[in-house]
Amino acid sequence: MNKIEQLINGQFVSSATSQFIEVTNPADNSVIAHAPCATDAELASAISSAETAFSTWKKVPVPERARLMMRYQHLLKEHHDEIATILSEETGKTFADAKGDVWRGIEVVEQAANVCSMMMGETVENVATNIDTYSMIQPLGVCLGITPFNFPAMIPLWMFPMAIACGNTFVLKPSEQDPKTPMKLAELFLKAGAPDGVLNVVHGGKDQVNYLLNAPAIKAVSFVGSVPVGQHIYKTATDNMKRAQCFAGAKNHSVIMPDANKEFVLNNLVGASVGAAGQRCMAISVAVFVGDSKEWIPELAERIAKVTPGLWNDDNAGYGPLISPQAKARVLQKIQEGKEQGATCLVDGSDFTLEGYEGGNWVGPTVFSDVKVDMSIYQEEIFGPVLCCMVVDTLEDAIKLVNANPYGNGTSIFTASGAAARKYQSDIEVGQVGINVPIPVPLPFFSFTGWKNSFYGDLHAYGKQAVRFYTETKTITARWLDDDIPSGPNMTIELK
Ligand code: NAD
Repeated sequence: MNKIEQLINGQFVSSATSQFIEVTNPADNSVIAHAPCATDAELASAISSAETAFSTWKKVPVPERARLMMRYQHLLKEHHDEIATILSEETGKTFADAKGDVWRGIEVVEQAANVCSMMMGETVENVATNIDTYSMIQPLGVCLGITPFNFPAMIPLWMFPMAIACGNTFVLKPSEQDPKTPMKLAELFLKAGAPDGVLNVVHGGKDQVNYLLNAPAIKAVSFVGSVPVGQHIYKTATDNMKRAQCFAGAKNHSVIMPDANKEFVLNNLVGASVGAAGQRCMAISVAVFVGDSKEWIPELAERIAKVTPGLWNDDNAGYGPLISPQAKARVLQKIQEGKEQGATCLVDGSDFTLEGYEGGNWVGPTVFSDVKVDMSIYQEEIFGPVLCCMVVDTLEDAIKLVNANPYGNGTSIFTASGAAARKYQSDIEVGQVGINVPIPVPLPFFSFTGWKNSFYGDLHAYGKQAVRFYTETKTITARWLDDDIPSGPNMTIELK
């Protein structure tokens, strides 16, 4: 049995557990590895190794910590295709998509390599005579990352490089569904020269996460995943007085104004909705057609129907299988509910299978029109290749619809009107807004945000902004002793 190891105190070690989770190839559900459910002793050991490493790592000069990240980003680039291949094999993502997943993570490591200037504090000289006040930025201690299956390279890389560059040490609990990619990331991190215990990787599910959330040594928790788990993690972490940032689910709307360029809109919506099998927190799952743009729905459906799922190494594949049989069953259930609740199923991918891979988690592209707000396909995140089309009369109606939705991760508007775009960007209650950009994921010098049910906790997320999450500020006020300065009360000047 191909057992995945854990990284504890600089060593890749086998778990002593008897409980394993099968890691499968989503294209046919053949078992490719077994992820251990870490024992309590292993979790304790990972935490204590991170705690011990913190006492020395925090004192390593900041430029040295930055250099580790320089070497790391270099190694990640060198192994880009190798990591993407591992990622494709365990997620089913197309190779192009997998390379994008790795690349978006590398961009964050590049930011971490610039940590020195981000660790700068502030100084005011002479706040009183001979007294200066200055602040310095210091790491927190042991930080925890809990990551989802859908970006097994990018999301771990949102977290540990920045936390570690700031002087923290880290325990990562990646998704049990695709743990091979994060282990490759960890292997390269050691190769880059990370000292023992600075990064630890343990595996498992709910029980392991709950153990870690209750460990007093862990000071901050970064989570990305679904809404119910995000809520649970936010509540548990904060009940235990830990700093927490929890990125959760999404229902992203794209608003299509009648003055938009039709060709451009249709091309973009195809990839943004069913690309990556819809398993992206920034996928467009609702297209809101304003006024006459509704005439484009049949053509959009025709184009989406032509997207063919396939194997990760098939250059013609539009996207791959869903991650698991459970994910497939859930998406099929939602499609069925859409039909029963009265939406019109213009393209139905329920029966799709890939020849020779009938045992895989395949779902074909699916498009619904006549979708209404109270239908479950609109209310819930589907996380599959399913687009819901809705029609409204005006931009104001579109804004009202999007703002009433419980999620607020991403949105976009397609329009030729500057006035409409400006109104949308300012009135919409969503974290990331695209104007003629279907999936507006910002680069790591900006925050990756999320409003309403898409996010709980401290928003200082990935890249440069994450320095604010992973550090404390210490403000020092110092009187510099000088023999020439008369003792006694402070000297003041009279203001005229
Ligand atoms: P998930 O919530 O099932 O799992 C995420 C992590 O939590 C995994 O490591 C898992 O082991 C752990 N976990 C699962 N159940 C748990 C429980 N009961 N208690 C404690 N820990 C638990 O999410 P997923 O299916 O892996 O990922 C898909 C979800 O992630 C979607 O909802 C998607 O929208 C969301 N997501 C959000 C963002 C964002 O930035 N907002 C990015 C990517 C994915």
